[in-house]
Amino acid sequence: MDTKAPITQDVLTIPRKLPDGPTNLVGLTRDAMRDALIAAGTPEKQAKMRVGQIWQWIYHWGVRDFAQMTNLAKDYRVMLAENFVVAIPEVVTRQVSEDGTRKYLVRIAGGHEVEVVYIPETDRGTLCISSQVGCTLTCSFCHTGTQKLVRNLTAGEIIGQVMVARDDLGEWPVPGAPKDETRLLSNIVLMGMGEPLYNFENVRDAMKIAMDPDGIQLSRRRITLSTSGVVPEIARTAQEIGCQLAISFHATTDEVRDTLVPINKRWPIAELLDALRTYPKVSNSERITFEYVMLDGVNDSDADARRLIKLIDGIPAKINLIPFNEWPGAPYRRSSNNRIRAFADIIYKAGYASPIRTPRGEDIMAACGQLKSATERARKSKAQIAQETGL
Ligand code: SAH
Ligand code: SF4
Repeated sequence: MDTKAPITQDVLTIPRKLPDGPTNLVGLTRDAMRDALIAAGTPEKQAKMRVGQIWQWIYHWGVRDFAQMTNLAKDYRVMLAENFVVAIPEVVTRQVSEDGTRKYLVRIAGGHEVEVVYIPETDRGTLCISSQVGCTLTCSFCHTGTQKLVRNLTAGEIIGQVMVARDDLGEWPVPGAPKDETRLLSNIVLMGMGEPLYNFENVRDAMKIAMDPDGIQLSRRRITLSTSGVVPEIARTAQEIGCQLAISFHATTDEVRDTLVPINKRWPIAELLDALRTYPKVSNSERITFEYVMLDGVNDSDADARRLIKLIDGIPAKINLIPFNEWPGAPYRRSSNNRIRAFADIIYKAGYASPIRTPRGEDIMAACGQLKSATERARKSKAQIAQETGL
């Protein structure tokens, strides 16, 4: 019998009722779009072709207005405009950091807001997207975990964040212009707000759209999903999405991980590692990223580094060390640079890449774990966090 306290998902379910209004085409899978077009009167034998045409307009060219879909008959465009919309989240604010990082606050249905961060680097541009409003989990070092109100984002709201960024970066192709192979937005990381594996279907459908060769066309190798360790969904992630996987590992004993990443009480380190051993083979990915936040005096000793190496033995891995990003009221401090370097060195000498993540966009609170929408002010109390994490 399982005696462990279950971690419930407890997601606020907002009825997604759109009976009278037009249906948003953004976020529908190809099959769902086909069904929607048929229901609106498209002859069945034409439906697949129409999906192909509309799909290209929306996801390749970035067109939102049916009137501009010029390879469709005028009457058909009118029918589309009567029944459907092509809608993405609305940008409420856009902040640009001194280092070029951009943070967007976007509004979604129900008036909720989530944050999206674009991080330009010399050889790539990474978009960090959110999968939930807030998070049901309560990792004690994470700002998002203190946000009380939670709902899952729809697939349209997830892929819509990518479309928002492409709009802002001016990255939709221009008809007739020579094909530009350089991508400002070349990578996606699901490392914003929320636990993506607690919103599996919507995340999967959105990432399928991002990978679709007739649209945004990002390789599955350029998409990384980060999870705190929802073990039962890991095999499915390999089979149904096939993207790169990052694990919020953060500790080398169950005792410490229980306090930092409370989902560890449900699926402890040994079970998590078992699930990870098969991931690279099934998903055909090269290696798994282990994220490890460096917390002064909590998880950053030499002994921790050595235990980490032992634990991941046999897993093709890279260890991403994240200097803790502080937020108001955070109960931890960042490890010193010397400590982080010493830790990285032990791991590197054992044969693993151990990059130290440079905090980006700190001046606009865009760094890892700092995201929390200002409108969702209902904070969990310190006592509640302490109770939930056992700290
Ligand atoms: N919920 C998912 C994805 C979002 S968090 C997950 O937990 O994996 C993205 C990464 O930022 C995770 O590794 C998370 O542990 C880390 N993180 C959270 N708060 C942080 C903070 N204050 N400083 C540094 N990293 C943090
Ligand atoms: Fe949720 Fe990830 Fe933050 Fe944990 S680290 S509270 S799983 S967003």
